[in-house]
Amino acid sequence: MTFSAELLDWYEHNRRILPWREDPSPYHVWLSEIMLQQTRVEAVREYYLRFIEKLPDIRSLAEAPEDTYLKLWEGLGYYSRVRNLHKAAYVIMEKYGGAMPSSSKELIELPGIGPYTASAIASIAFGEAAPAVDGNLLRVFARLSRYGENIRTPAALRAAVSFYKERMPDRVPAEQGGTENDPGSLYRPGNPFGNFNQALMDIGAMVCLPNSGPFCERCPLASRCRIHNELPGEELSLPAAKERAEKKTELLTVFVIRTGGRTAIRKRPARGLLAGLYEFPNAAGFLDTDEALIWLREHSVEPLRIMRTEDSEHVFTHKIWKMRGYEVDADPFTEEKIPFIMASDEEILGKYSIPSAFGAYLKRI
Ligand code: SF4
Repeated sequence: MTFSAELLDWYEHNRRILPWREDPSPYHVWLSEIMLQQTRVEAVREYYLRFIEKLPDIRSLAEAPEDTYLKLWEGLGYYSRVRNLHKAAYVIMEKYGGAMPSSSKELIELPGIGPYTASAIASIAFGEAAPAVDGNLLRVFARLSRYGENIRTPAALRAAVSFYKERMPDRVPAEQGGTENDPGSLYRPGNPFGNFNQALMDIGAMVCLPNSGPFCERCPLASRCRIHNELPGEELSLPAAKERAEKKTELLTVFVIRTGGRTAIRKRPARGLLAGLYEFPNAAGFLDTDEALIWLREHSVEPLRIMRTEDSEHVFTHKIWKMRGYEVDADPFTEEKIPFIMASDEEILGKYSIPSAFGAYLKRI
């Protein structure tokens, strides 16, 4: 049997029963695929059923008020998904007369639809021979082919798409002109391309799991799987661990400027890292004492005393702050000119949120 024949036979007997599979209309497939992004199947079921009950088709979604579709999404998170659904429904009504476009090329032009979702809809709802490769299919691909590189790269995605494409059913479904009576037409009933993708999705969800198993003894692809056959027991070693992206290091000089019982703080910008929180005034780079004095005077601070305090470091997801600290006693007669919030210790501890990145300097309050 071929790869696809084994897969499709397995799917026929082992597929997951999911509400959107019962009636795989383009709208149902689209909605379920968007809901399933970053959300588990079990969590999606209820939401899906509630959504299609209230907004049963593309027109009703396009015409729904914002409050309605946001409420139906409440708890699913990533609200841009439902906003894009609504926008795309509107485009489908305006541009396609309410009929969802059928090719992955057109689908990918709609708001919120990326290459994976376009291929999933095109194959499941319209029978296009387009592999729908997401993280699960990348993992299965890495094990089947012993792909040892990082799978989170465009090159890996291209390799996976062509790997699956070469193994898709070589028979034309009826919708695309295949006929049962013509053996030359390579007819296969149903939707072989959509089922091929869904079978792989199910293998990824039930058999070839990321961190446990995998259950190779129940896998229909075991005889063709390189990692399983060449390194039995080592299946979990693929895909290769993500290479850690080098974190960017930023140098900062942090000033704890005090006048009497008050300390200078300022609000961070409304966007970006630690948005809207408060911080001790700071300058980019490591400043020596002379440079620090210049910076202070540029900010209308007249220091009576300046002292180096400890260095500190804070590691964020994508960057590291290395900080050099100065404690500054400023002339209280010039406090009014200081362009920062001069906060009491109680206010700093009880009112203003200063992130833990500044913890080493907060201790000095
Ligand atoms: S044989 Fe094992 S490792 Fe290979 S695809 Fe199947 S479950 Fe995954």
